[in-house]
Amino acid sequence: MSESRYVYGPVPSRRLGMSLGVSPIPKKTCNYSCIYCQLGRTDKMVYTREMFTKVSDILDEFDSTKGSVNEFDAVTVVGEGEPTLYLGLGKLIRGLKDRTDKPVAVITNGALLFDPEVREELMAADIVMPSADAWDEESFRSINRPVGLLRYKQVRDGLVDFSKSYRGQLWLEIMLMKGINDSPEAFGRYKELLKELNYDRLYLNTPVRPPAEDFVRFLERDDMERAEEVLGGMSIDLLVSEGFQSVVEDDLEAVIGIIKRHPMNRFEIEGFLANRGTKDIGLLLDIMKNDERVDVVHYKGIDTFRLK
Ligand code: SF4
Repeated sequence: MSESRYVYGPVPSRRLGMSLGVSPIPKKTCNYSCIYCQLGRTDKMVYTREMFTKVSDILDEFDSTKGSVNEFDAVTVVGEGEPTLYLGLGKLIRGLKDRTDKPVAVITNGALLFDPEVREELMAADIVMPSADAWDEESFRSINRPVGLLRYKQVRDGLVDFSKSYRGQLWLEIMLMKGINDSPEAFGRYKELLKELNYDRLYLNTPVRPPAEDFVRFLERDDMERAEEVLGGMSIDLLVSEGFQSVVEDDLEAVIGIIKRHPMNRFEIEGFLANRGTKDIGLLLDIMKNDERVDVVHYKGIDTFRLK
């Protein structure tokens, strides 16, 4: 099968099980450039929504991929940037819903929830997973580093409005980073925000993959447990991530296809290749380390592979 452009996986998702990913956004295109982003710094900062590609092209690829992969538990619209920037999002979600009885989830930074059209388009999804990392303009600028025109108040009001009108499952996520947003004051501000929102689950995350900025540090297990107690959420840190799959035949290209959207550490790549019956895994890892497309980052004591 040729290289996938919009549909990948299934990849193991720590919240959704095996998830078939759909990415309607060109690489690193976002309205934020979060300091913790696992894709690195945003290349293309954009404010306005665009029809990056035809909805029918994505749905055609979904049809062909779905027929050739193993079981999956959910379809996740996510990928290489912020999916609500895609003007075809509503049509895409409805098209996916017509093609599968699995839940369709959208992972979003929530920045455009102030836009009534975006809110309306997301209504068709079964699960919406917005981020809520900031509590005021200053934290918004230092953590999410949004495109200039975006203001914290409009983003917060949009999230509050959406949470009150959305009828599906709303799963919030806060990314916690040592010394940046883990103080009692920050937790107090998060609690104020959480009181205003209608949500079904709160996930607390910490950067388990190499972040865009070197100064970002993850929280240790004890600190995550403390955060769980204070904020009342569940931690998705350190949950095992295994069971990557790909329909691409060539081993190297299969790994490249996954790390394009989802960085993998050495153990994940080894497990993935062992499942496929690859003979010389060590050799393939060496080839990857020397592949000019690949960035190897030493993080949390392990080599993590991502695309440059
Ligand atoms: S983490 Fe998400 S919202 Fe933040 S820069 Fe990366 S893609 Fe954009």
